[in-house]
Amino acid sequence: MIDLHTHTAFSDGSQPPAELVAEAAALGLHAVAVTDHDTVDGLPEALAAGERLGIEVVPGVEINLEHDRVTMDMLGYFLGGQPTDELKRQLAELRGYRDERNAQILARLAELGYPLDPGDLASLAENGAVGRPHIGEAMRRRGYVGSISEAFEKFLRRGGAAWVDRRRLSLGPALRLLRASGGLPVLAHPGIIRTDHAGLRRLVRQAARCGLVGIECYYPLHDEETVARCLSLAREFDLVPTGGSDYHGTVKPKARLGKGSAGEPIPDSVLEVLRARAPSLRNDVSC
Ligand code: AMP
Ligand code: FE
Ligand code: ZN
Repeated sequence: MIDLHTHTAFSDGSQPPAELVAEAAALGLHAVAVTDHDTVDGLPEALAAGERLGIEVVPGVEINLEHDRVTMDMLGYFLGGQPTDELKRQLAELRGYRDERNAQILARLAELGYPLDPGDLASLAENGAVGRPHIGEAMRRRGYVGSISEAFEKFLRRGGAAWVDRRRLSLGPALRLLRASGGLPVLAHPGIIRTDHAGLRRLVRQAARCGLVGIECYYPLHDEETVARCLSLAREFDLVPTGGSDYHGTVKPKARLGKGSAGEPIPDSVLEVLRARAPSLRNDVSC
């Protein structure tokens, strides 16, 4: 069993990287990818913990992007080396977009009568990628809501009372960035992208032309039909079907490490197939 999609306290997960890796090792996972939003700063700690505990840690990242007015997440896996300085610089810029947006959300919440102190957020995510789950947690601590999900439902979800959009990359630049930094791009949780099957197929076709390598088929929110459709897209466009739980610790209590769709363990073979792809890839995709 492995897990190729997890978050630590460097983004919106609840645990420090070493703790997450220790939990994965204790559960008997053979490999765990750490894929924080817009940051690779938690990777050194995770990799060191992996060495100590005898579990493979796959260095990764997750970035949000937009294509044809649809937003989605792209995972990147650094199977052949460490993230480059250029990637780190670009991720810092993406975190800057988050900071702009967080300030706007706080302003909106204050107008609605729910003031928060920017320091409330800083204390929840020390130098990491701050996002809506942190705002939800800060609201919970102030007693404005009973839970992070209530904060999303009432305020933070798309269309909610304090919803603010943020700047993000588009598909080509996101894929180019990952590939140019030695990352293998994998489309995250296609089943929750807000489009129909024809739209998803067009998107995957375009992404495959621009250097996409895999597609996350095994995912807790994917039912059997979604998994089957995803596997068929993987076959059609020669993509590696991967899997991850999107574990966030206590922030998202339903996700369990190593478990994909229908609570089934994610097989080791997924990582082996992905790894086999790495050496044959050229990094200079043009799109
Ligand atoms: P952000 O990066 O600030 O846009 O926030 C995205 C994060 O919020 C992701 O980790 C999602 O898992 C989480 N999220 C999105 N919708 C909800 C929701 N309704 N309840 C709880 N968490 C959510
Ligand atoms: Fe995601
Ligand atoms: Zn994620």
